[in-house]
Amino acid sequence: MNRKLMELAERYVAQRKRRMRLFKTVTALALVVAICTSYVLMMPGLTMAAETYCGLEEHTHTADCYVDELTCLISEREAETVFTDIMRCSFEPHRHSSDCYNAQGELSCGYWDGYIHEHDEKCYDSNGVLICTLEEHPMHKHTDACYNWEKQLICTLTESEGHIHTDACYRAKEPTCGLFESEGHQHTADCVTETRTLICTEDVATNSDMPHVHDDSCYEVTRTYTCGLTEGEGAHHHTDACYPTTEEPTCGLFEGEGAHTHDDSCYEMVRGDLKCKLYPDPAKVHTHSASCVDAKTGYYTCGYIQVLRHQHTNECIVTVTAEDSGHHHTADCYERHYICGKEEHTHTADCYYDPTPNPDATAAPEATAEPTATPEVTDEP
Ligand SMILES: [Zn+2]
Ligand SMILES: [Zn+2]
Ligand SMILES: [Zn+2]
Ligand SMILES: [Zn+2]
Ligand SMILES: [Zn+2]
Ligand SMILES: [Zn+2]
Ligand SMILES: [Zn+2]
Ligand SMILES: [Zn+2]
Repeated sequence: MNRKLMELAERYVAQRKRRMRLFKTVTALALVVAICTSYVLMMPGLTMAAETYCGLEEHTHTADCYVDELTCLISEREAETVFTDIMRCSFEPHRHSSDCYNAQGELSCGYWDGYIHEHDEKCYDSNGVLICTLEEHPMHKHTDACYNWEKQLICTLTESEGHIHTDACYRAKEPTCGLFESEGHQHTADCVTETRTLICTEDVATNSDMPHVHDDSCYEVTRTYTCGLTEGEGAHHHTDACYPTTEEPTCGLFEGEGAHTHDDSCYEMVRGDLKCKLYPDPAKVHTHSASCVDAKTGYYTCGYIQVLRHQHTNECIVTVTAEDSGHHHTADCYERHYICGKEEHTHTADCYYDPTPNPDATAAPEATAEPTATPEVTDEP
């Protein structure tokens, strides 16, 4: 019995203690709420009920309000030492100048006004950029198209209209004169009688120291023709009159026969001068030796020209180093685009000021301002 009573008493005490703790907590909370509420009510400007007149909504941009667009064209890279290949080629191409001509005005420099160069891997840097200081002039082999071609006449015929009948074509082949062609009478020894007359006056006495003996020059010869005919008498040479004219031509040719007008087959295309400037005439190119130069003038007399050719070697390229600061994007590399469609705004005291006229507010300051003018009058002695 006693034990049961004690147990009940203990339970009651514990329950009462719990209730007291709960009461204290609830009271404290109620007090806090009361204080907070009254404080909030004391500040009309901050209450929900307060009206703003700015027409704007309070807004502060957050990360959701914008997107940053990368506008930088530089890609990000680390700082590093950059090695750059620079062409320092010592090859000098030959270009004709007034010095290339001798006293007679003939080109005598011995070199072609050009050079042969083909870009190869040495002409590009490690980034594949062309650093070559020469123009590309690849080796060129002339083709037919590199020459001027001239039309040359190979026909041995002369241009003509062919046979045209003349009067001679309308004559009979045989003469009808009935005579033979002959030279006529030709004098012979039988036709002549010679008479010798001594015309010499020299002394032919046999007692003189040097007696004269007559020769042919001492006689005058007189020839007398006794045939009674003249030289060529009775000659006959056929003339056109000996041949009768005919109706039809007797020449045996057609009018226009044998005519010739040159056509394409009478011509041949002949290779003329080299018009190509990509390489000189290979027949005139050689590599000069010491004997090609006139020691006195320095001009080349061999009649050939030399073509300079250059492909870069390691000596033509210099590698220089430079420090590259690299690039890491900063805020400057981005352009910010706002997508929220709002402006940033925080209400200030002005935002709560009602711009519509209020008669009470405007009348009051005027009334209080008036009495300040009075003291000057009362101070006068
Ligand atoms: Zn020259
Ligand atoms: Zn090159
Ligand atoms: Zn050519
Ligand atoms: Zn005749
Ligand atoms: Zn012809
Ligand atoms: Zn030479
Ligand atoms: Zn070079
Ligand atoms: Zn950047």
